[in-house]
Amino acid sequence: MRSLPPRMMDLLYHEMILPEETVEVRKKVREFAIKEVAPRAHEIAHQEESTDTFPRDIFEKMAKEELFKIPFPKEYGGLGLKYPTCATVVTIEELAYISNSIAAVYDVHCILCGHAIMYGSDFIRNKYLKPMTEGNLIGCFATTEPEASSDLSSHSVKTVARKSGNKYIVNGHKRFITNAAVANHVTVLVNLEGKLSELVIELDSPGCTVGDPDKKMGNRGQLTSDIYFDNVEVPEENLISEQGNGLRVALGTLTYGRVGIAASGVGMAQSAFDECVEYMKNREAFGKKISQFQYWQFKLAERAIQIENSRNLYTKAALRIDQGFEFPEPEAAGAKYYGTECAGDMARDAVQIFGGYGFMRTLAHDHSTYKVEEIFRDYKIAEIYEGTNEIQKMIISRAIFGRDNL
Ligand SMILES: Cc1cc2nc3c(=O)[nH]c(=O)nc-3n(C[C@H](O)[C@H](O)[C@H](O)COP(=O)(O)OP(=O)(O)OC[C@H]3O[C@@H](n4cnc5c(N)ncnc54)[C@H](O)[C@@H]3O)c2cc1C
Repeated sequence: MRSLPPRMMDLLYHEMILPEETVEVRKKVREFAIKEVAPRAHEIAHQEESTDTFPRDIFEKMAKEELFKIPFPKEYGGLGLKYPTCATVVTIEELAYISNSIAAVYDVHCILCGHAIMYGSDFIRNKYLKPMTEGNLIGCFATTEPEASSDLSSHSVKTVARKSGNKYIVNGHKRFITNAAVANHVTVLVNLEGKLSELVIELDSPGCTVGDPDKKMGNRGQLTSDIYFDNVEVPEENLISEQGNGLRVALGTLTYGRVGIAASGVGMAQSAFDECVEYMKNREAFGKKISQFQYWQFKLAERAIQIENSRNLYTKAALRIDQGFEFPEPEAAGAKYYGTECAGDMARDAVQIFGGYGFMRTLAHDHSTYKVEEIFRDYKIAEIYEGTNEIQKMIISRAIFGRDNL
């Protein structure tokens, strides 16, 4: 296993905002990620996707460490923290620092599926959420379809449900669904009589099929698959919230989710930054260390402040959720677009700083590997999923001008 570089966050970032409770969670998750995720991170990032490559060992260890309990109240199996959102997104940053695939698996299980279920009845929370916090059930979340994702209006969503007695009958097709290949249930946005609703569907229901995992550029430990629904019967008690309230459930969940994705961007940016600092202090050109070239000093200075700002932004968005704001805008959208762009800027610089080595998956000569290559592939999806960065800018524009002036 490659050794990890010194944590520059400890030197440069002075924690003044997050509660002590969250700082403790960060410490615990950091230790966990170094001990349990780091030894597997390279393999997870480079393997070809298949159902067998789901990082089940890490998933089980996260459950044992009670990481899935962090976001939730005690009565549904959670830790009952005072600032659960802050703790959840800090967990994602720390996981993403080591492996963005693992951060994504955690994000979808806990934030997307778990948070959507929190909109549901006690029955749904007890049946699905409690075992999820123990790691005994795996969850996924489906809004995206072949023809709809950024636009989730009722005329775009083609997965339909109709009521038949005390059941819903579901037909349709969802795409890119993280964890679906291994999950037990999915929260699904459906079109019910022209209005959007959200259902929990068990994936072993007759008529429900999950496709093979997609082969992706990065985040190879995050398995995505299509889900097909062919006359799937869903008990009426599996409706989340009320009929017609599905878009609110989906958007409320995705708003929380985008704060998590912002944190994953910060984790990846910090990881690439730390790799660069160490490399620049050791690699020489023209008789000087790379760290002695002012061009690269200034680049790192810019990125250090970008990371600082990104971390502050996601922290502020998380604190607003913990204060009870369901749609903490413009902070959540701002944190997502800024934090993931920060990861992209840092990943591009990092590969450049490493020169040819930054392009290597494995160097044949000595089998050495380079984390920045992995981050360069993994960061890109953060600018796309859970609302593309263009959609985030639309949300910020709405806050500036008001819906009526757009
Ligand atoms: C690895 C991975 C994991 C995923 N996991 C999940 C999951 O678990 N569950 C799930 O439901 N989905 C998931 N997705 C889907 C993901 O959320 C969508 O891919 C994303 O929201 C973008 O949707 P789209 O691909 O349909 O792009 P489109 O909506 O077709 O957009 C295409 C381009 O047009 C731009 N665009 C669209 N509208 C506007 C506008 N009004 N103004 C300016 N530009 C615009 C977009 O920003 C984008 O650049 C995942 C995708 C991937 C690749």
